[in-house]
Amino acid sequence: MSFNSLGLSNALLKAVSKQGYTTPTPIQEKAIPLILEGKDILASAQTGTGKTAGFTLPMLQTLSRGQRLRHRPIRALVLTPTRELAAQVHNNVKAYSEFLDIRSSVIFGGVNQRPQVATIRNGVDILIATPGRLLDLQNQGLLSLAKIEILVLDEADRMLDMGFIGDVNTLLDKTPKKRQTLLFSATISQPVKALARKILNNHQLISVAKQNA
Ligand code: AMP
Repeated sequence: MSFNSLGLSNALLKAVSKQGYTTPTPIQEKAIPLILEGKDILASAQTGTGKTAGFTLPMLQTLSRGQRLRHRPIRALVLTPTRELAAQVHNNVKAYSEFLDIRSSVIFGGVNQRPQVATIRNGVDILIATPGRLLDLQNQGLLSLAKIEILVLDEADRMLDMGFIGDVNTLLDKTPKKRQTLLFSATISQPVKALARKILNNHQLISVAKQNA
């Protein structure tokens, strides 16, 4: 199987090839076509499986095909449990969107909020964030989640373990009901299943074996 048969645009194939990827990983093979179809997903995938490209590539394609508003509201949100993961996902998003007219930004706690707010004000299509800082900025009225089309929860099990469920639920309530939601988790525990039942709509289940690094 090659990346060419997954339905990705030339701009994305070019970015993938620039990364040196020749073959999609199993999670990418399964997730990319379903996400492009607009399906909600519950994916059991650990770090190292290529899960980030698995949700980022189709997300970029959907956003670049959709309607563009001049003030660039946030149209896709990726929530991660830690700032390290947020930064890592943002690096992936930047690399894969190199040949697209898509802007992305990352926000997390522990640093001055001012530069983060300034970037968002300028307009970003994709925001990667940790729940605490995002909720903080949202409560201050500094950003809006009302135009979110795609929501990704990355490492959902860790997010629950770290006690972010309350923040995540509050944030989800600020996003439109009609959205595509992608839930990625290393383990599909009972709490993850409960979250999936609550926030996913008629979802597809994807599971892949752990890949050796
Ligand atoms: P992740 O599981 O998203 O953290 O990705 C693990 C690593 O695999 C990252 O360093 C990616 O750059 C790399 N990667 C993702 N997809 C592919 C692919 N199709 N072929 C080779 N490497 C990949």
